[in-house]
Amino acid sequence: MPQHILIVEDEPSIAELISINLTHSGFVVSRALQSDEALQMMKLNTPDLIILDWMLPGKSGVQFAKELRTNPAMQALPILMLTAKGEEADKILGLDAGADDYVTKPFSPKELVARVKALLRRHAPISAEEKPLSIGPIELDPAAHRIAVMMSNGSTKTLALGPTEFRLLHFLMSNPERVHSRAHLLDHVWGNESYIEERTVDVHIKRLRAALAPYHCDQYVETVRGSGYRITKNPVDA
Ligand code: CA
Repeated sequence: MPQHILIVEDEPSIAELISINLTHSGFVVSRALQSDEALQMMKLNTPDLIILDWMLPGKSGVQFAKELRTNPAMQALPILMLTAKGEEADKILGLDAGADDYVTKPFSPKELVARVKALLRRHAPISAEEKPLSIGPIELDPAAHRIAVMMSNGSTKTLALGPTEFRLLHFLMSNPERVHSRAHLLDHVWGNESYIEERTVDVHIKRLRAALAPYHCDQYVETVRGSGYRITKNPVDA
């Protein structure tokens, strides 16, 4: 079945350019001019990926990305942010809001399609044969795409994680107690896509910790100064 991409962009010429190129590459494309319209469409037919323009009439793309990340039905949806803002600070802001990747206008349609494909590959379901993993109170079930935390009273809480954070946590939990450099994490979690910078890893680690913090589990993800990150069952700050 062809994968379905939703484009949320208020400039018809840009939406058309993206649409033509994605359709040509075998995707099914739908289009919305702003976030409210997009949300209505998504409720009827959840896309496999959303291309979201930063500057939209009404709600901004950044605000909409934040809302999608807190919506249980939409939080796992890959988001590619599209913007005229090229500053590093804006890029970090976009990723912080919940985007998984970021393309600056003007862009080459060929590169955009390549990034869409890379993002979809990165979020392909993990093999159903993979066994559940645990570290301390954190339990990750790859087949069910589910993360739960055992609470001190014996109950479990299901955690809301975006797709990149899920993959990052899955990789760390599959290779615990070892320090992974940013380059190593990019290689294994992002699939060695050369355009992604090492700082992106820091942004997603920050998002992962923010999701774990309400359950007092953020300390299991440790920063090893000058080296990278690791997950450990014996955190220093526990
Ligand atoms: Ca716009």
